[in-house]
Amino acid sequence: MTKIKDEYIKMLNDLQEIEKYKREMMINNTKEFVESSTTFFKYEKAEPLSLSKEHMYLKRGIQSDKSITTKNRIPGFNVTKRYLIDTLSIWNELGIRLHPVKLIDNYTMNQIEGKDYDGELSDITSDGFVEDIPIKLSMNVRTDGSVCMLPVINSDGNVNLQLINKVYLVRGEKRCCAAIYAHEIAHTQLDPGYTKDYLNREAIPAFMEEIFSDVLDKSGSLLQSNRYFKLNLTAKYIDMIRKEEESILKVEPSTYIQSHLESIALANLYFSSNRTIKKEILENVSKVFNGEQDLDNMLNRYECGIDNVPLDIKILKKVKKTR
Ligand SMILES: [Zn+2]
Repeated sequence: MTKIKDEYIKMLNDLQEIEKYKREMMINNTKEFVESSTTFFKYEKAEPLSLSKEHMYLKRGIQSDKSITTKNRIPGFNVTKRYLIDTLSIWNELGIRLHPVKLIDNYTMNQIEGKDYDGELSDITSDGFVEDIPIKLSMNVRTDGSVCMLPVINSDGNVNLQLINKVYLVRGEKRCCAAIYAHEIAHTQLDPGYTKDYLNREAIPAFMEEIFSDVLDKSGSLLQSNRYFKLNLTAKYIDMIRKEEESILKVEPSTYIQSHLESIALANLYFSSNRTIKKEILENVSKVFNGEQDLDNMLNRYECGIDNVPLDIKILKKVKKTR
């Protein structure tokens, strides 16, 4: 009897040790990720968001709604690469000029990743436009989409350039995928230094996702489901921050909370504005893509920075349109 009990206690201790180890690994990895991002990508600030009472009201307000998961957000599997490439013309219609990208293939990327390379960049990359970025449609991507990029760290220790390898997308309903594709394309256009705050990282891609949702589905239901999905995620991240003690582990969820709220505020402003203001907002996005202005300036100008975002659930859910 004693023997079984001893073994049981030992097993519990081992499990605790394993959990402790896993957690330490997670803390260290996150720390390394955030630190290297801030160093190389020239972010000046990467502090977790301090939650207010309003954030809690927001969270409660969202949870009273039926939750929307990735699955019910992307019903049906009818997207094709051809369709996605065709939707790139929408950027043009919106007046946003996308700049060329430096592409790197799988083989070369695996060869040089994490190693010193002092040859010519032109020997390992090719110049292309966004339509040349390979798209990998998959069933098992952890998020809806992502861009596989390789940052180039120069001798001055900064990243001025990111090599683009491919865009990953989860297969789904074509218009929903196209909106997510627009989000990922926006990431390929944002060069290091475009924002000083690490937590603003997702604001422009998330904003473009809303704009594309509106263009692709005039009924407004794609935009609405996108909005609910985003708010739902925001609520989950608020919970994550609340429960987390390690400050560093709050940084990533903070990014999504801050960027989502800013993108919603900017999209609300856009949808309720006349043609002239709409055009001006999109011109500003172009300027951020071209490195002619930073995102922080743009958010301040439209009072859509995190300090100005109204945390009223009704405002965040509502899309008031002017056409
Ligand atoms: Zn993103």
